[in-house]
Amino acid sequence: MFSTLSQRIDKAVKNLKGKGRITEINVATTVKEIRRALVDADVNYKVAKQVTDEIKEEALGRKVLINVEPGQLLVKIVHEKLTALMGGEEEEINIEGDPAVVLMSGLQGSGKTTFSGKLANFINKKRNKKVLLVACDVYRPAAINQLQVVGEQIGVEVYAEPENKNPVSISQNAIKYAKENNHKVVIVDTAGRLAVDEEMMKEIEDVKNAIKPSETLFVVDSMTGQDAVNTAKTFNERINFDGVVLTKLDGDTRGGAALSIRAVVNKPIKFTGTGEKMDAINVFRPEGMAGRILDMGDIVDLVRRTEDMFEKEEMERLNRKMRKNQFDYDDFLSQLQQIKNMGNLKDLIGMLPGMNKVLRDVDIDENSFKPIEAIIRSMTPHERQNPAVLKEGSRRKRIANGSGTSIQQVNNLIKQFEDMRKMMKKMNKMTKGGKRGFANL
Ligand code: GDP
Repeated sequence: MFSTLSQRIDKAVKNLKGKGRITEINVATTVKEIRRALVDADVNYKVAKQVTDEIKEEALGRKVLINVEPGQLLVKIVHEKLTALMGGEEEEINIEGDPAVVLMSGLQGSGKTTFSGKLANFINKKRNKKVLLVACDVYRPAAINQLQVVGEQIGVEVYAEPENKNPVSISQNAIKYAKENNHKVVIVDTAGRLAVDEEMMKEIEDVKNAIKPSETLFVVDSMTGQDAVNTAKTFNERINFDGVVLTKLDGDTRGGAALSIRAVVNKPIKFTGTGEKMDAINVFRPEGMAGRILDMGDIVDLVRRTEDMFEKEEMERLNRKMRKNQFDYDDFLSQLQQIKNMGNLKDLIGMLPGMNKVLRDVDIDENSFKPIEAIIRSMTPHERQNPAVLKEGSRRKRIANGSGTSIQQVNNLIKQFEDMRKMMKKMNKMTKGGKRGFANL
């Protein structure tokens, strides 16, 4: 995500390396570079100019106040300004009401249906509210089916009227149904078109007026850059939505949409989508996003995600075993499984400070774990629970054969595993019996 932009800003700031302080001259070059990087990342020119002017002013204003390295100071200022540009604070979705109604809008292919499912899942699990999904795309017969598949996957009921071609009455009937059946949140997925057209606008406007949603979200594909911002503007003028959902941030997006939408439309980004799976949904935090653009990571997000994704009991069990230096290959396998469940790995790595730089060109996906899993699965239960017996070469050879890997790969894994155990032992000593344990570090 945003790797080119991150690289360019990083490079621009390096210009200041070795300079004793920020001056009008050296900051001008750096700021110009940052502006160019932003524009090339599809940030609206006016927005890029304004934000970099502010960065410059701030940098010059602070020069006498703080005695830190100019590069670091500038990164801090850029971070603050990008955060402010994206709205500053995190803004929550409004799902108050009985039922609360969330209306989804956006072009076809933007990811509305997928996001409706993700949001339903999120509200169901995180807010403990019973959700009803409503299929209001009356033009594509496949659309109803698509939503039903999603609903089944996440265990959320889907309301549809395949014979009814009027989205206003479908959504009204759905709300009535929700009231009768104790659904607390209704998510209405509407029809999109490939481009903005009057008929679509009128339709979404009619639905909005009829059902008076507590929250109207505009879904947009972040890969479409400047177009995303223009479409947002058009939709907003017509239906005055409450928030934006930026999808496909897991792809090779240049970042412009994330950075300009708030400034141009003056509506907050509330969520992002980072994958096709139902758990690839993130509450948007401007500060975290700015951190990721500058490769400073987003630990808050990482902790949130891991908290949710790791099963608590399993985590505690692993934690206990680590504390007693009893961590074995079965535990390792379980941990890998949990990491895999956490979704897009590259995305997770991006949340660690500096990691993007190290792993920028490394292809990490679920398949990267396959050989490791195969090796562990080729061990006997006795071997998994008693890693010491793997000292014997004959066992390693058998495992390599069984897993379709090389002895070298098996040796590497065993070495890494042993290093990991050593590290755990060391940390246990450091935390004196490890009361806090690893998971909480
Ligand atoms: P709709 O026409 O607006 O309802 O869009 P869909 O929900 O059908 O999504 C269009 C395509 O984009 C589908 O293939 C989705 O799987 C994919 N998609 C949606 N959200 C994301 C996302 O956050 N990341 C990625 N990589 N793909 C997504």
